[in-house]
This record gives sequence, structure tokens and C-alpha cells, in this order.
Amino acid sequence: MNDKCVYCQLKKLMVESKNHLVLCSSDTVYRLIGIADEPEDLYYILRRLNGSILLSSCVGGITDLFYQFDEETYNELNHIFLLNEDICFEDMSDESDKFECCCK
Ligand SMILES: [Zn+2]
Repeated sequence: MNDKCVYCQLKKLMVESKNHLVLCSSDTVYRLIGIADEPEDLYYILRRLNGSILLSSCVGGITDLFYQFDEETYNELNHIFLLNEDICFEDMSDESDKFECCCK
């Protein structure tokens, strides 16, 4: 994995984890909805249970709960999030499909 550039690593993460529930440098659960390429940094685009968006630097790690829990537990947690997704009032699109690899 270390021989891949950050863009390749984040693209791989999106393939494996996009729209999954994750933990990100806190004990709060978010839905990972994409990667934002901002001038200062690359950010995970995270949706909170209340529908709002949080940007968190990709320097920090992320834990995909889909691979941590059994299916039933994950689905129960996911169900709680789905109940709240009609209140989503903010949106940001995933930019990871536009990333250009810089592996050398
Ligand atoms: Zn690359």
C-alpha cells in the first residue's frame, strides 16, 4: 500500500468504503460519502447522524464499521442512520473519481 500515492489510496478506500458507516478520530459514527480536494488539504466528507456534513483531514485514519461488525449489528446501526437521511440539508459530491494518480 505504501508504494501507492495518496490519490490511489483514497480511490481504493472509496471503492471499499464509500457510503459505509465509519469512525474517524473520535467515537462518533459518520457516513463516509466521499473525498473533497480542497486547496489546503484532502478531506473525508462525513455525514453526521443529524444530516450535516463534516470535513475531516485525510491525514487521520478511518475505521470502516462494515468490516468491524457482524452483518446484523451493522445493519441495525445503518438503519438508524437511514431513518434520519430525509433531514439531510447539506450535500457535497465525492471528488475521488477525478483524482489523477501520481505514483512513480
Ligand atoms: Zn497513484
